[in-house]
Amino acid sequence: MTLRECLSYGRETLASSNIEYPSLESELLLRQTLIISRVQLYLDFDLELSHEQGETFWGLVKRRLEGEPTAYISGHREFYGLDFYINPSVLIPRPETELLVEKTINLAKGCILPVIADIGTGCGAIAISLALKLPRAKIYATDISASALEVARANCLKHGLTSRVSLLQGNMLEPLPRPVDFIVSNLPYVKEEEISDDNFEPVLALNGGGDGLEPIRRLCHQVGGKLRPGGYLLLEIGQGQQAAVTSLLSSLFPLAEIEVTPDLSGIDRMVSAVLSPISEA
Ligand code: GLN
Repeated sequence: MTLRECLSYGRETLASSNIEYPSLESELLLRQTLIISRVQLYLDFDLELSHEQGETFWGLVKRRLEGEPTAYISGHREFYGLDFYINPSVLIPRPETELLVEKTINLAKGCILPVIADIGTGCGAIAISLALKLPRAKIYATDISASALEVARANCLKHGLTSRVSLLQGNMLEPLPRPVDFIVSNLPYVKEEEISDDNFEPVLALNGGGDGLEPIRRLCHQVGGKLRPGGYLLLEIGQGQQAAVTSLLSSLFPLAEIEVTPDLSGIDRMVSAVLSPISEA
């Protein structure tokens, strides 16, 4: 079978099991089988796969059909135009989280030396995207999970950012050595009862407790003293959480200006707050 035939059989098999992006996923799995780039795949379209390569490819397709995400099978995921290593210790970065990155870049690009904290960094996608777009920024990236921080460390090395991104293990803002100008975070916010048993992603990275808001609430209570007066807090939220998060923030920081931003599907996805320039802590 040629690469072209293999790709199209893969696509048909994935499509018939209702996998969302069958062409893209078939391509990623075939490239993973052969360890080749996209360009190489297209150049070698008419080459024959060996029997062994064919077996490997169908093995990967089978894992996908059993529900394992392609990002875990391939060990990679693109986010904000960058390639990240991924394994089951970390959440797979979602495109909607790019909103958080975009907004932070817009706010921080006018700062001379912005100091930014990414809380619950996982694979490091937010911290690393910010560091690459904001070359004068100093970034702290925290996570409670040591195995997640190993993935973030590999990604910092891959992107040449080991000195500008400091990885710190601990509970949310606690490990920060000094107050920062920006706190950016995509914490777990899925309601515990909505997390399915056959989920491949780490429950720790998804579980927001009974109402989905426990981690966000804990973070907001830690902000005083860790965010400089006039600093920004940017939080990704789940569908329908904007009212609760906005009212929590306005009760903690009555002088803060608070904004809710929808994602591309029109779902309110981010709450951002700028603290008053006069300390409320
Ligand atoms: N967006 C993810 C989901 O809906 C959840 C990410 C999170 O909890 N931060 O599966």
